[in-house]
Amino acid sequence: MTTQQSASLGLQAETKRSSVNTAPEAPPYCGGDTPARRPEFFTTVSSLLKDADGVTVAVLRIDSPPVNSLGSQVRVALGRELDAALSDDKVKAIVLTGTGRFFSGGADVREFNTSKTKVEPLLRTLIARLEQSEKPVVAALNGTTLGGGLELALGCHDRVASPEAVLGLPEVKLGVLPGAGGTQRLPRIVGVAAALDIIVSGDSMSAEKALRYGLVSEIVQGDLVDGACRAAAGMAKGVVQYRRLSHKPLGADAASGQLFDDARKMAARKYRGGIAPMHCIACIEKALSCDLDEGLAFEAEKFQELVNGDQSKALRHVFFAERQAAKIEGVSREETPRIDKVGVVGAGTMGGGIAMSFANAGVPVVLLDSTDEALQRGLGIIRRNYEATLKKGRLTQAQLEQRLALITPSLDYRDLSGVDMVVEAAFEDMGVKKSIFTTLDAVCGPQAILATNTSRLDINEIAAVTKRPGRVLGTHFFSPANVMRLLEVVKGDATEAAVMAGIFQLAKRLGKIPVQVGVCDGFVGNRMISHYTREAYFLLEEGATPAQVDGALRRFGMAMGPLQMQDMAGLDISWAARKRQAATRPAHLRYSRVADRICESGRYGQKTGAGFYRYEPGSREPIPDPEIEALIRECAEEAGIRQRPISDEEIVQRAIYALVNEGARIVEDGMAQRASDIDVVYVHGYGFPAFRGGPMFYADTQGLDKVLATIRGFHAEHGELWEPAPLLVRLAEQGGRFSE
Ligand code: NAD
Repeated sequence: MTTQQSASLGLQAETKRSSVNTAPEAPPYCGGDTPARRPEFFTTVSSLLKDADGVTVAVLRIDSPPVNSLGSQVRVALGRELDAALSDDKVKAIVLTGTGRFFSGGADVREFNTSKTKVEPLLRTLIARLEQSEKPVVAALNGTTLGGGLELALGCHDRVASPEAVLGLPEVKLGVLPGAGGTQRLPRIVGVAAALDIIVSGDSMSAEKALRYGLVSEIVQGDLVDGACRAAAGMAKGVVQYRRLSHKPLGADAASGQLFDDARKMAARKYRGGIAPMHCIACIEKALSCDLDEGLAFEAEKFQELVNGDQSKALRHVFFAERQAAKIEGVSREETPRIDKVGVVGAGTMGGGIAMSFANAGVPVVLLDSTDEALQRGLGIIRRNYEATLKKGRLTQAQLEQRLALITPSLDYRDLSGVDMVVEAAFEDMGVKKSIFTTLDAVCGPQAILATNTSRLDINEIAAVTKRPGRVLGTHFFSPANVMRLLEVVKGDATEAAVMAGIFQLAKRLGKIPVQVGVCDGFVGNRMISHYTREAYFLLEEGATPAQVDGALRRFGMAMGPLQMQDMAGLDISWAARKRQAATRPAHLRYSRVADRICESGRYGQKTGAGFYRYEPGSREPIPDPEIEALIRECAEEAGIRQRPISDEEIVQRAIYALVNEGARIVEDGMAQRASDIDVVYVHGYGFPAFRGGPMFYADTQGLDKVLATIRGFHAEHGELWEPAPLLVRLAEQGGRFSE
């Protein structure tokens, strides 16, 4: 059977544009990053007739750049083209496809935020029409197919894909569920276990994996639309079986209760209090006992509950906040420097991870250290990390070798003469950094960008030792740098806008989420975290145990409690910082000696087998330690503090509102461009629960007047450290929100 490209017949002699609209802005979609391109005009759905083995096939093509999201204009146009194809007697089969790199990126997320009644036809209606069509409909998945885009394809009678196609139902990541039939149709197509995996993880999959799951029936190597037309024509002629989805309940035998129990346990661990994953599981379970219509009604009800709930609102806030944070305005693409080859100075914990991030993105990197011993140690760790990924099946041997080959070890600064950018990740010491930057300024080309990974030091002071302060900045990676997605991009006083834009583009290539921050002690994330840990230490002195403090914050949704986090990072690091700050710390301010005393006893956290907790050899499981509880009591007595019972609510408010109050100062100082940037920093760098939207959004949801009243109470009780931030006071008094 061959498909011949025919001159189009009858209905549309040539590609017909069904509608033309002005698009002021690329609509956000329920998938990955929104490409920055903003076309002035876009068409929505075109249709063309093709002859496939004597069968006339209508090819409907969604053409709504940049991501073919399924906003109202696309739905209306698709409905119209579908009606035309269904009512044209010549047309015997239909193929649905997309343009560019997208089949469809899914629903327009902005439509979730509006209370207005949605324009008909709704996606559910369109899908039902596709499914009920007497003429076979085949989806030709030409590229990214996410969310509502995939649900649309599930309504078709078959799906074929190009090798580049990427498929997924990421709704759970926005705190909702696939609400256009995904939870009912997917288990009927791929089985319950695979549907649970796809829907509850929200992760995207390759065309190959989709083929293994039976989600697509073929990966077409040649012309995809031709392949799809062939499949559709085969069905129309009765040569290939016409697949109609069974609407009957799947039945109890389709999956064991154990499968659902395991899914719920996994979701509870992964989403820590997230409601949407549990609703996804409940919907899939419903497909066992209900027919399609009952299942769809249940799914619609659960979707509505989620979309109006606080968790999804918070997740949608984070979704938009990430996109907002990643924008650098006012710099054209031509002005941004190209970064094709980089250097990393320091092959330690951070330098090694940073070098891996570059190699993972295919960027060649020269990794330099001052001694061969340190260099070899760093390279050994990089290799072992890659081998561990290989063992988990997430990397092939060839990819491992390729990535290692991109990393050139060096002991000679002259090897950095040809790089476009250097990231310095040597010791956290101003003298060391200044000496390295002086050398880099001498050996690197005049256009090279010089970045430091410092956690706290003054970027302007470092830039001042160079003749190119405009090309110096901070790139603050988080540990482990090859895993963590947050990148604080620290703009010095002289850093040029084009350099910032170049780093933001680079961050995207590395799969990182960049956020611009200003020069101040600890930038945004670490500046705030010192207030959070300060309250954790005070709470210990006032009567809480480490397990109680950490437990309350974990139950709030933090990935880890503050004391556990200190143990993991190494208590000696913050101890050294406190010793440095001791000379300038005002004597009248309350200061807890608890962490210092723990360090003085030689307990530096996990790496010494003991810190706030003790650890069995080789284990990271924190075990409460009566010795520490006694030490805390001693510190409280010495400080004259009477211990008392402390509630979980107080722990959460003291810790989280300390973040909020400092966050408000940071916005006011201009060290963050907007409050939502702080939310991005906390969700991606500090394990703040995304379903609470980040600390600033969380404060909004509590009501800033209530937050301020609580902070005023703490101020009265605990003193100066709780002085309310002026921005918080202003907003609370005006009934405002940080997120406005
Ligand atoms: P590390 O001690 O693990 O590694 C530092 C490396 O730099 C060592 O291998 C050392 O030999 C090398 N080095 C020192 N002086 C050098 C020089 N003059 N030339 C070349 N190499 C030199 O330190 P780390 O934890 O990787 O931290 C590096 C930087 O990153 C510091 O500024 C730190 O504050 C910052 N940082 C650390 C973390 C973290 O979690 N560890 C997180 C963010 C930022």
